[in-house]
Amino acid sequence: SLFRHARFEISIARPQDLPPANGPEIAFAGRSNAGKSSALNTLVGHTRLAFVSKTPGRTQLINVFRMHNGAALVDLPGYGYAKVPEAVRLQWVRLLENYLTRRESLMGLILIMDSRHPLTPLDQQMLSWFAPSGRPVHVLLSKADKLTRSASAQVLAKVRRELPKWGDQITVQLFSSLKKSGMEEAESIVSGWMAP
Ligand code: GDP
Repeated sequence: SLFRHARFEISIARPQDLPPANGPEIAFAGRSNAGKSSALNTLVGHTRLAFVSKTPGRTQLINVFRMHNGAALVDLPGYGYAKVPEAVRLQWVRLLENYLTRRESLMGLILIMDSRHPLTPLDQQMLSWFAPSGRPVHVLLSKADKLTRSASAQVLAKVRRELPKWGDQITVQLFSSLKKSGMEEAESIVSGWMAP
């Protein structure tokens, strides 16, 4: 499968430190605590692949993983962490915007949102930056196991109704790292992005 056995390649502090693109890239982004590192670990089948720093105020790194097919997974710093100084937060945001709007090798964005609090203002900001590029976004509504079946179906329908505001290349699904559910769907979407 596509994601399994992705290998860690490099950690960098700023997008401008990324080496020149060496194949297509798929970015992972999400609010801090949305479940991004859990989702990445679940998808690649490792337990400690995305070693994102949880220390408040510490510079978060961009971690790059290389997949079998030569494409890279780019794990972006979580955004919106409330306890970091405003200047640091703004710097992260600028860094993310820069990468998302300018990286030519970027094929698509996986945006992780907690299924209990989807489409926060910062999530909407990410969509506003990225969607105009015409490249696809796939939203993972994470921690779906925390909702009942009917509540999660309602959230999925609600988010699906709102997404066309940002473009027609945006898809969404439920995901649970705990239950390992939604992996095949996510993988098939990303495979579709990489198809020639
Ligand atoms: P990140 O900051 O976005 O990388 O979030 P993490 O992956 O570190 O997850 C944040 C918190 O949510 C942790 O306490 C995880 O254990 C929890 N979490 C993540 N994914 C799931 C999930 O699928 N189900 C449940 N119940 N909890 C989850």
